[in-house]
Amino acid sequence: MLTDKELADYIFPEVKETIEDLEKRYPKRNLKEEAEVTRFAPSPTGFLHTGSLFTAMICDKVARQSGGVFYLRLEDTDTKREIENSKTIILDQLKAFNITPSEGFLGDKQVGDYGPYVQSERADIYKVVIKYLISIGRAYPCFATQEELDAMRKEQEAAKLITGYYGQFAKYRFLNNDERKALIDSGKPFVIRFKSLGNHIKKIRIHDLIRGEFDIAQNDQDIVIYKSDGLPTYHLAHVVDDHFMRTTTVIRGEEWIASLPIHLDLFEALGWEAPRYAHLPLILKQTEEGTRRKLSKRLDKEAAVSFFLEEGYPTEAIIMYLMTIANSNFEEWIFAHKFKDMDQFNFTFDKVSLEGALFDINKLNFFSRECLAKLTKKEITDMAYEYATKYSPKLKEVIDSDRAYFEEILNIEREKENPRKDYYRFIDLYENIAFFYEDDWKNIVNDIKNLPFNREKYNNETIKEVLRAIYDNIDLPDEESVWFDHLKQIGAKLGFAANNKEYKESPDSYKGVVADVAEILRITLTTRKNSPNLYYVMRVLGLEKSKQRIDYIITLL
Ligand code: GLU
Repeated sequence: MLTDKELADYIFPEVKETIEDLEKRYPKRNLKEEAEVTRFAPSPTGFLHTGSLFTAMICDKVARQSGGVFYLRLEDTDTKREIENSKTIILDQLKAFNITPSEGFLGDKQVGDYGPYVQSERADIYKVVIKYLISIGRAYPCFATQEELDAMRKEQEAAKLITGYYGQFAKYRFLNNDERKALIDSGKPFVIRFKSLGNHIKKIRIHDLIRGEFDIAQNDQDIVIYKSDGLPTYHLAHVVDDHFMRTTTVIRGEEWIASLPIHLDLFEALGWEAPRYAHLPLILKQTEEGTRRKLSKRLDKEAAVSFFLEEGYPTEAIIMYLMTIANSNFEEWIFAHKFKDMDQFNFTFDKVSLEGALFDINKLNFFSRECLAKLTKKEITDMAYEYATKYSPKLKEVIDSDRAYFEEILNIEREKENPRKDYYRFIDLYENIAFFYEDDWKNIVNDIKNLPFNREKYNNETIKEVLRAIYDNIDLPDEESVWFDHLKQIGAKLGFAANNKEYKESPDSYKGVVADVAEILRITLTTRKNSPNLYYVMRVLGLEKSKQRIDYIITLL
């Protein structure tokens, strides 16, 4: 009868290399003891999930802060799911977040001594390992058809048994090698299955860097490790790649915990030491009904990283926000560091909160405002321009038309100790500043009813009177307080109190308060009730243009 070794040679005659050859080709990395080798292993589905960005961020951080290596491996063995261009999309998107693997598949090239880093190019390597497993009797060809597998499942369900290919149900496990060869010779299609020696009644102890120690049922499924298309399944590829790429810590989503017994079973069969594991919590979303569910690609726009890029969120804010989800002590740290130098923060697995991974867009908006507020006018203009070039022709046009003017608009109360936090994303930036541009301002005010003057308080005549007085007397001194004093004087002459207190003491003696005068001026210049600081708005527009606007509104009223 054919030995296991002969069967292995019979199935894979072209495979001449051995595990020892691979061990030599991919030697242990020459790194310091504490250096972590981490990897991000996306499948090319054309879509970077926010949860994957979260994972990649942590992989990158852990490698960098330990002086290790962070590499990218493309997991494209599921050829059905692959989408054109998606490989480079993922890298471009990571890059936008400043996550740049130093090794692996880097889009236009592959870098490093542990490649290839694209799984579909590693078929030969997997075959060496699969052949080895057959040769030691720990893997075998399985000829089960889909119908057979379906029938088996039905039988198991009817008997309320665990479903799957295991124990007595693992029918092709019991063939002898001659029978196996005969079926191969007859041309029957087959896959290769791992022969598990586990027993699901028994437990194995798991050590997870985030969850600590816990017990979980052993694997006893004879899982498929090699598909009829010549490629391995995720389980085998994970074990082989993380072994030969010398990953020290596998950081991945918690959805993989359930498969961990399979992976440990495979490591053991191969006689390899398993890497450390850290299973990250899923990012959840609070639904309107108050329940929590996984951030869903289908239902939630914020599940796709592209959403944030298209909306023009500063990528740094997203990373900061994700780090608050990752480490419970980060938020306090980044406040203390004034939203700067997050590289100095030390990430630790034991501070990953397991229940706190709830996605909160309001909090992200808050981080965004902080990030945009700390930039200089030049920095924010560069960022806005980069965004505009990709996503907003109108914004690009206005920056191109007069960059210095744009910078001054964004500089209103910016470069100072407590800057204003007007902006949190670029998608609506233009809308917010459109009134600074003459054509847009005119478009709005031409329909004078659009202006939110408080018509219950003032009729057109009062508004005109106020505007005329401002037109005749307003100036633009260097000090804001002086300017405001002048505005008060203008108001006083017209019968407006200098402050609320004065007004309240004798409401009948006044037409209103100076704030009302300012509001009329604000609406005139900006078309809104809320705007950036009015004095600075006037400074950006200039005295001349401000007066022209006042005059124009008087003629329209
Ligand atoms: N390719 C797997 C995925 O996209 C990677 C899981 C892992 O990190 O091992 O889910």
